[in-house]
Amino acid sequence: MSKQTLSFQAEVAQLLHLVTHSLYSNPDIFLRELVSNASDACDKLRFEALNNAALFEDAPNLDVRVGFDREARTITITDNGIGMSEQEAIEHLGTIAKSGTKDFMNRLSGDQKQDAQLIGQFGVGFYSGFIVADTITVESRRAGLPAAEGVRWTSGGTGEFEVEAIERAARGTSVTLHLREDASDYLDHWRLKSIIGKYSDHISLPILMEKEEWDAEKSEYVRKGEWEAVNSANALWARSKKDISDEQYAEFYKNLSYDTQAPLAWSHNRVEGSTEYTQLLYIPGKAPQDLWNRDRKAGIKLYVKRVFIMDEAEALMPSYLRWVKGVVDSADLPLNVSRELLQESRDVKAIREGNTRRVLAMLDDLSKDNEKYTRFYAEFGSVLKEGLGEDFANRDKLARLLRFASTSEADLTSLADYKARMKEGQTAIYYITADNLSAAKNSPQLEVFRKKGIEVLLMTDRVDEWALSFLTEFDGTPLQSVAKGAVDLGSLQDEEEKKAAEAAAEVFKPVLERLKESLKDKAKDVRVTSRLVDSPACLVVEDGDYSTQLARMLKQSGQPAPQVKPILEVNAEHALVKKLEASEHFDDLAHILFDQALLAEGGLPDDPAAYVKRVNALLI
Ligand code: ADP
Repeated sequence: MSKQTLSFQAEVAQLLHLVTHSLYSNPDIFLRELVSNASDACDKLRFEALNNAALFEDAPNLDVRVGFDREARTITITDNGIGMSEQEAIEHLGTIAKSGTKDFMNRLSGDQKQDAQLIGQFGVGFYSGFIVADTITVESRRAGLPAAEGVRWTSGGTGEFEVEAIERAARGTSVTLHLREDASDYLDHWRLKSIIGKYSDHISLPILMEKEEWDAEKSEYVRKGEWEAVNSANALWARSKKDISDEQYAEFYKNLSYDTQAPLAWSHNRVEGSTEYTQLLYIPGKAPQDLWNRDRKAGIKLYVKRVFIMDEAEALMPSYLRWVKGVVDSADLPLNVSRELLQESRDVKAIREGNTRRVLAMLDDLSKDNEKYTRFYAEFGSVLKEGLGEDFANRDKLARLLRFASTSEADLTSLADYKARMKEGQTAIYYITADNLSAAKNSPQLEVFRKKGIEVLLMTDRVDEWALSFLTEFDGTPLQSVAKGAVDLGSLQDEEEKKAAEAAAEVFKPVLERLKESLKDKAKDVRVTSRLVDSPACLVVEDGDYSTQLARMLKQSGQPAPQVKPILEVNAEHALVKKLEASEHFDDLAHILFDQALLAEGGLPDDPAAYVKRVNALLI
């Protein structure tokens, strides 16, 4: 049979032109693509052989060999997989069948720079060989065909390729790259080995390279025909769960995370549905140093059919779960998927949702083990709260995972447990936010709650107030800050108390008016309250306003904080307040009352020197 010269399909020619004429930012990937093709070809053989064992011929052990020849300046990737017939070589290597690549072709703009960027986002598969080669020769024989029906396919990567029939004893395919001048550094054992190690380590078949030793006498490398595997082929996640021991899971975690501690929990699943993927996710026992950096990438490695694609695939996990470690191996994404493309992919969205659900379920499980969950929560509880503002769909599940300090419990408590302890007639879950635990515990706003024995959650985490603004209710019960709005204990307050308070307010009215006048620059309003028992006054804000702590925190961290004018609430029963009316220092006392309320909650008077002066004047 004679040589045939054929033209590439127009799209292929266009693609090749791009591959060869544009700078490829990461030329190493040619090896990943060709090794992946070789591995696919072996998978296909294994599959077809299920019904026809004769296809294995006399070589049942499947492998991929990567060799190179310094003199001839070639790299050859050989597999003993399914191979190609002449017709298949013409079709598969001369046209583009894959929809992803077609998609790519449709997006080409004609502008070389832009298109070169695009190329990086799509799988160009076999043609990526032309990044480093000016000629590619493929020799192949399809499994099951006689040796005489081998094929040689050759192309210089321009408009045409040649095919001819050859005699080929070995089943499978070898792809030989004739390297360009500028690609000489790939003629190096170590270089090729490290690229395989980076991208193809988990490919489940052995990838072999011939051993090479430096012969000082001859002053050249010598090979003795010994082939060794250069990948570890340890795609643990691709194996069946029942074949993997806990030790193996833990060991894999250590390699994955560089964490010396064992993980708290893991979950390994093959997910089938609109998109198919395997997830192996770990809950670490310890938070990383930079947990608080919201730009920190997720701890998920993305593989496509066991080929490593990228580290820190942040599109696969929401930001508040950025500390979860693991592997996702997709059966559907293209090999050359980029970060940009990941953000847009519907498959990726489904994977992210699947991962999120899985992590929340793992945590729910973990929460049944108090000791472990406490450890987990101390490390990651705060970052989990970010989810309240980030992941509305899972807010209820998240709320169940939160834990808070409380006025009545020694340990942290869940909202569900709080609810179970609520008093007869109590209609809200009460909480207070403060800078630290002792400020929270001693806050004047708690006085009436303490007197009535009503539990209040103490929130001292910086993110609490922000996070809680997204959680207005839990399981049908509203959450209410005890430092916001008017205190309304509903049926927990008896009628007599209410009446007494109203009467006191009436009598107190003229004093209130004078207080409002004195403090008009500082306080939005002044009113009588029943929330205080021992303290003369406290500050509150209206529902929906930033608390004074949050405003202070924002200001300290240099962020724009709205000016919140708090409301001063006074305890008309307090001796100091009673003294006000007759005092000749009314104005000074009013300011001291306000500034002390501010001090009591951890704030500072606007003008501390003026405060000191006023107090001293009274002391004298
Ligand atoms: P993809 O592998 O993504 O389909 P490629 O451009 O890499 O796209 O390859 C095109 C086709 O060529 C493959 O689908 C396969 O049918 C065939 N092919 C490539 N390499 C091999 C190989 N080593 N053995 C058998 N067939 C191959």
